[in-house]
Amino acid sequence: MESLLYLYQYQIQKFVNSSAGSQLGVAYEWKGEDVYHAYLEYPQIAPSGYAVACLFLKAACKADYENAECFAGNLMNQDASMARLGMVVVFCMENGRLLKRAFVPNDSARCVRIEYVPDKSNLYTRSKGLIEVGALEKRHVLIVGLGSGGATIAVELAKAGVGNFALVDFDRLELHNIARHIAGVNELGRLKTNIVRDAILGKNPYANISTHPVDIMKDIPLIEQLVSGTDLVIAATDSLPSRYLLNSLIIKHKKTGLFGRAVTRAEGGDVLRVRPGGPCYACLKGSQWYTQEEEITDLRRARETGVIPAYTSEEDADAMVQVGLSTDIAPINTMVVKLAIQELSRGTECLITTLDKELDYDFYMWANRRELHFANWAPFNHNPGRKKPTILQWYGVKFPKSCDCHECRNY
Ligand SMILES: [Zn+2]
Repeated sequence: MESLLYLYQYQIQKFVNSSAGSQLGVAYEWKGEDVYHAYLEYPQIAPSGYAVACLFLKAACKADYENAECFAGNLMNQDASMARLGMVVVFCMENGRLLKRAFVPNDSARCVRIEYVPDKSNLYTRSKGLIEVGALEKRHVLIVGLGSGGATIAVELAKAGVGNFALVDFDRLELHNIARHIAGVNELGRLKTNIVRDAILGKNPYANISTHPVDIMKDIPLIEQLVSGTDLVIAATDSLPSRYLLNSLIIKHKKTGLFGRAVTRAEGGDVLRVRPGGPCYACLKGSQWYTQEEEITDLRRARETGVIPAYTSEEDADAMVQVGLSTDIAPINTMVVKLAIQELSRGTECLITTLDKELDYDFYMWANRRELHFANWAPFNHNPGRKKPTILQWYGVKFPKSCDCHECRNY
């Protein structure tokens, strides 16, 4: 029988170079799969699986290395804190080469194969060529709102190689979020900032992430500082006042901002890009040609913010909390991610710049279904000359800066 054990290269290097002869760590096992991940220090990423004690040893000579089972057995008999060891990893230097092996105490029939989780330089070799990883690694993104939009976008940007994140959301994960959020039932109750931080670190353990579980409307100096220090702002909040606040800070600090949202029941959605000197969120609001309606997915929040008036009965309010399908939100998230990568990779050589003609609009609209606000949109593949917007295809719009916009006219 063979088990597979993953070790983290940077931790092992630290241990091997230290003066310690042994160190107690922890291994997490996926029961029934014979797969373990072992750590010498508490991992940045919340681990999964069942925890077992794991002993790391440095053998002084080859004989000790080969007799480590005896050494571990004696230790388990003598020291009560070692009695429940589930894994032992042994290292030995031989002619400048680091030997390594691992075993499960009291299970001599089991072989353990060791694999390393590599350090930074080796992690992204697969995406090299498409995205110049080194360039995005230095970029910084601020994401405000970590629901089904912001959380997904954050993880996609981490996969693309973005190296620095500031995450803002004061909410915790609740049961009604699960169907559309990246997190599962095992993370119920956690702060969304921490859930998304862990998800990013799961893709890129070397990302720099700051988390801010605050309501931006109650800590404006903080959000202003975060906006001023970032390359790109992604506004994925579900309240109008917070979007207006982000809009004015984006303009003030001459940043680029992306505003993504889904409308009622995710029948469609849109993405607005605010660029220095260009039209802003407030310019759009004055000339918006369809609903300003927000998607309501959280009954308590909708009550608190007055989106559902206090006199609405519980039954009617329930009907107003209309949850769209995750798959209907996915196109909006994907467009935000494409625009974000385009913005972040400006000045670098990477293939995504060949989309510069398509990704040249201020406002992008998407309809999932021909109903309600999109009832007049043309059917898919049934739109000669593409004169009208079509469902299931992006529709890009350029619009002028509004000369009487109170937010951006002075910039
Ligand atoms: Zn404006």
